[in-house]
Amino acid sequence: MPVSLQNVVVVGTGQGSFQLAASLREGGFRGSLTLVGDEPGLPYGRPPLSKAYLLGKTDAAGLNLRPPAFYDEHGITVRSGERATAIDRDGRRVVLASGESLPYNHLVLATGARNRPLPVPGADLSGVHQLRTLAEADALKAALARAGRVAVVGAGFIGLEFAAVCAARGVPVTVIEGAPRPLGRAVSAEMAALVERTHVAAGVAFRFGAAVTAITGTGRATGVAMADGEAVAADLILVGIGVLPNQEIAEAAGLPVANGIAVDAMLATPDPAISALGDCAAHPSPFADGARVRIESVQNAVDGARCIAARLLGRPAPFSAVPWFWSDQGPMKLQMAGLAAPHDRAVTRGDPERGGVSVFCYRGGRLVGVESLNRPADHMIARRLLAAGIGPSPEQAADPAFDLKGFAAGPR
Ligand code: FAD
Ligand code: NAP
Repeated sequence: MPVSLQNVVVVGTGQGSFQLAASLREGGFRGSLTLVGDEPGLPYGRPPLSKAYLLGKTDAAGLNLRPPAFYDEHGITVRSGERATAIDRDGRRVVLASGESLPYNHLVLATGARNRPLPVPGADLSGVHQLRTLAEADALKAALARAGRVAVVGAGFIGLEFAAVCAARGVPVTVIEGAPRPLGRAVSAEMAALVERTHVAAGVAFRFGAAVTAITGTGRATGVAMADGEAVAADLILVGIGVLPNQEIAEAAGLPVANGIAVDAMLATPDPAISALGDCAAHPSPFADGARVRIESVQNAVDGARCIAARLLGRPAPFSAVPWFWSDQGPMKLQMAGLAAPHDRAVTRGDPERGGVSVFCYRGGRLVGVESLNRPADHMIARRLLAAGIGPSPEQAADPAFDLKGFAAGPR
């Protein structure tokens, strides 16, 4: 371990921050370790916020990534409810909103992302919600219990997971999306069509290609107005139109940003004393032909944290973990491996009605992503294939008789 590493400060108390602290201690780091976050409480996982938590299947304590004792036992100081406002790079100190400043040998920025605001009149009316934090999930859960009719703006992960919750609760819900299909950023057209069909069968209504012009109502929201003159009536509106990276303190400190804090393949910024990970960071990825990507997922935050911890502990290696994602939407367990966009060919394997389906996506003849719907075995195999940089031909992948597991096991 480098002798200079005595004092690590992490900005953010989310998924990546927690993992970095856990991995550093696991790897034998004995120095001071402080996590500074502007949310109250201990690090918690966000995935259940749009799923089990809204359905009442888990409570707030169940979201915590570790119980309070973990932090005491491992000598990790969590300073919650504290916002970092600036970085003094020359003095190697993080300045907090309170005016206090914390010295560091190494600073890790794990500031995540925030909801993109809907830029139309009425977006601040009562009854309009967004979902990123536990506090927002609590407000949404209370509103859902009273809601007569729901509109969701954005057919991304948040929008579709919430729509599935509404459908499960028997609350009428309409999803309004600017693009011609759901999950435009996340999955192939083939998978999007299957996902849409399943939501429609569960009672979810969709409006695609719709430009939202206003949230209607006086004081309280009554609906969503669209450019074609149509309106969707609703007393609860969830806006889920993507996120913006929390990069401002890095930018103000003179670090490069471009849709995220720009880091190298080791997740280091040009300042050797500062690294960045997770939703806030853009890193060059072997799965995007070396281009910088900013990935918004638990896996990316967790594996990024492990990568930085290994480097700080003297075992540097480039960040090369296979990206993977999941989304639970009603009866659908959607799992994605690799970065499938853009791709020029997609083939399906399996049957959505019987045992699930996977979509294998190819770019220039190379397998770049696999999307699995209720077919977890394919997902696990896909992660192995993508890590090894190999894949079946499209014809093999589409052939139900082809032994995919045997292919992944080799020999080749
Ligand atoms: P976060 O976990 O967002 O943590 C960043 C923290 O830093 C936040 O608490 C933030 O308030 C704080 N912060 C920011 N700026 C400052 C500052 N200046 N000072 C102090 N603190 C600051 N991913 C999946 O892979 N699967 C899922 O099923 C899934 N479901 C999700 C459901 C929901 C509702 C949401 C919102 C996200 C979901 N995600 C899912 C995405 C996943 O949660 C994120 O990708 C992950 O949390 C990113 O981790 P992070 O550490 O980069 O950021
Ligand atoms: P998202 O997945 O980026 O989806 C946003 C959707 O909103 C996109 O389809 C986008 O279409 C659409 N949109 C953008 N502007 C719009 C507008 N003005 N009107 C109508 N539609 C509009 O983001 P999200 O669903 O809001 O999720 C927020 C964050 O939480 C992301 O980081 C996401 O990864 C994370 N999350 C992840 C999961 C999961 O992995 N299971 C679950 C929940 C949340 P265009 O692409 O065409 O702009």
